[in-house]
Amino acid sequence: MDCIFCKIINKELNSEILYEDNKMIIIKDIYPKANIHYLAIPKKHISTHMDIDYNDQELMGYIHLVINKFTKEKGINSYKLVMNCGYEAGQRVFHIHFHILSGQKFGEV
Ligand code: AMP
Ligand code: ZN
Repeated sequence: MDCIFCKIINKELNSEILYEDNKMIIIKDIYPKANIHYLAIPKKHISTHMDIDYNDQELMGYIHLVINKFTKEKGINSYKLVMNCGYEAGQRVFHIHFHILSGQKFGEV
């Protein structure tokens, strides 16, 4: 499959992996849009938020718990968590991921 994030997960493409377990990774975004910009990515290839299935409930909850633990360990206590869904919304990599944005002040949305 021609998916950048699957390639990163399979170590076919280099990336700065900050966290990894059997279900997910957290990497540094290569083109950061904030002072701190990480991406939390499940190892399972799911194209968009709309493709999340009932079978993925545990995985989706798990990702949030790891993000909690990861940000706490980094001393981050305020962050914006973003998932773009669909091209019009700004999604460019069609393998779901949460943007973890921090290290600065943001607007309200
Ligand atoms: P989105 O537009 O929501 O699909 O977000 C995709 C994100 O992936 C963007 O912020 C890109 O900067 C980031 N990105 C693309 N290629 C790579 C890569 N090889 N390593 C790390 N981040 C990447
Ligand atoms: Zn993928």
